[in-house]
Amino acid sequence: MSEDCIFCQIAAKTIPKEFLFENERIMAFDDIHKDAPTHFLVVPKKHLASLAETTVADQALLGELVTTAAALAHEAGVDTTGYRVVINTRKHGGQLIPHLHLHVMGGRQMGNSHG
Ligand code: AMP
Ligand code: ZN
Repeated sequence: MSEDCIFCQIAAKTIPKEFLFENERIMAFDDIHKDAPTHFLVVPKKHLASLAETTVADQALLGELVTTAAALAHEAGVDTTGYRVVINTRKHGGQLIPHLHLHVMGGRQMGNSHG
């Protein structure tokens, strides 16, 4: 837990948030600034500043984050049409919140550039 981290505060329930999914390790909730009709975040409750801070010890957690993203995309009804999963990492990756999170976006056509 990092005291001034917004996602840690959401995990600790200091900041109330409606979850799409929650277990002991993971939470998922809608992004407050949706970039697509479906846009939610899948977030470990443990504070990891970014993907760059993960190690082999986090492999199971990372796998669970990805499979949870897929299960929730299915629940949201975007799996047939498809969706995008993004992990912005540090400055050049455009990461704004320094607590690891997966964006899941669907419900509209995405471009196929990677820029
Ligand atoms: P990034 O760190 O660039 O991957 O993006 C952080 C994302 O978190 C942005 O899309 C924000 O809209 C989103 N966000 C920031 N604060 C909250 C919050 N309190 N609840 C839900 N989403 C948030
Ligand atoms: Zn945090």
